[in-house]
Amino acid sequence: MGAMVYFVCRRPEHLAAARGGEGRLVIRHGTTAYCDCRDTDDRHEWIATGGVPLEQILERHAREVPLPA
Ligand SMILES: [Zn+2]
Repeated sequence: MGAMVYFVCRRPEHLAAARGGEGRLVIRHGTTAYCDCRDTDDRHEWIATGGVPLEQILERHAREVPLPA
């Protein structure tokens, strides 16, 4: 079983740079958080998930992020 993710980043600037499931894990207050961008600053805006498997987070991002035209 993979990592559990307790927070996801919803910062608009980071979502705009989202990588479609190729983001990064961040340790936040001893728990695992996920941001779907890699090359921005660390000023994330975290939303609590209540604990979701990482695989589920990545699948959701892969569906929501449109492919470049
Ligand atoms: Zn972020």
